[in-house]
Amino acid sequence: MKILILGGTEDARQLAERLVAMGHAVTTSLAGRTSEPLMPAGEVRIGGFGGGEGLGKFVIKSEFDRLVDATHPYAEEMHANAVQAAQMAGLRLVRLVRPEWTEPQYAFWKHFPTAEAAAAALPKGARAFLTVGHRTLAPYLARKDCSFVVRSIEPPEKPLPIHATSITGRPPFYLGGETELLESQGITHLVSKNSGGAQTEAKLQAAHQLGLPVFMIDRPVLPPAHDVPTIGQAIAALRLV
Ligand code: NAP
Repeated sequence: MKILILGGTEDARQLAERLVAMGHAVTTSLAGRTSEPLMPAGEVRIGGFGGGEGLGKFVIKSEFDRLVDATHPYAEEMHANAVQAAQMAGLRLVRLVRPEWTEPQYAFWKHFPTAEAAAAALPKGARAFLTVGHRTLAPYLARKDCSFVVRSIEPPEKPLPIHATSITGRPPFYLGGETELLESQGITHLVSKNSGGAQTEAKLQAAHQLGLPVFMIDRPVLPPAHDVPTIGQAIAALRLV
């Protein structure tokens, strides 16, 4: 079968590896945000399609038999594009969505619908660890009465302002390193998306152990698709046999 995976996540990479091993012709599509992405098995295509219509045309022209949306839970635009493209191509959209992290019983999470709301709720003088990606940094950095440590896979394109420090790191992260980082940087708040998965979960455990509040940006509501939580269930949902 000819399968297109909309990727950019570890789950997408693992799925590609499994499907290639099963003998399918797999293409993974990446947005091209990171300069040295970990390459999935099979073919790789880098760059946008020009919206849902562009993606739909690509799927039809390339005669894909299956379409999987395995992009990050917060890749809102791409999720919408995938739904439109699947409709155009007459394919059922299988969407691989990692389960959310759940709040430990005695942890201290505050939930926010947007970056703006979370940024506004930081108390004056807070030193927040931001693990939210580059695209939603602006509302936090606008808080000149707070300071920030910003972690990303690659450094930001433009230098950060004086009250923010950039550090780079590629998952997986582990509890010991995360605890040391939060302590050595004097972090008072952790700001995170609810990405789910094991690769970046240790920061939440570290914050919990240190008694730090977690500002959690809740997931966007996604348009209807056939959602599955695991790679095994994605393969089953693709009905390849
Ligand atoms: P987004 O805002 O939902 O998408 C913006 C545009 O980027 C899309 O309209 C599309 O352009 C292009 N695009 C996104 N994902 C693509 C893919 N897999 N292949 C080809 N084009 C893609 O996306 P985003 O939140 O910036 O995320 C970009 C990529 O990073 C995604 O692949 C996602 O899986 C990965 N990622 C995102 C996050 C996050 O927090 N958002 C975290 C980790 C990884 P066109 O309209 O031109 O097709």
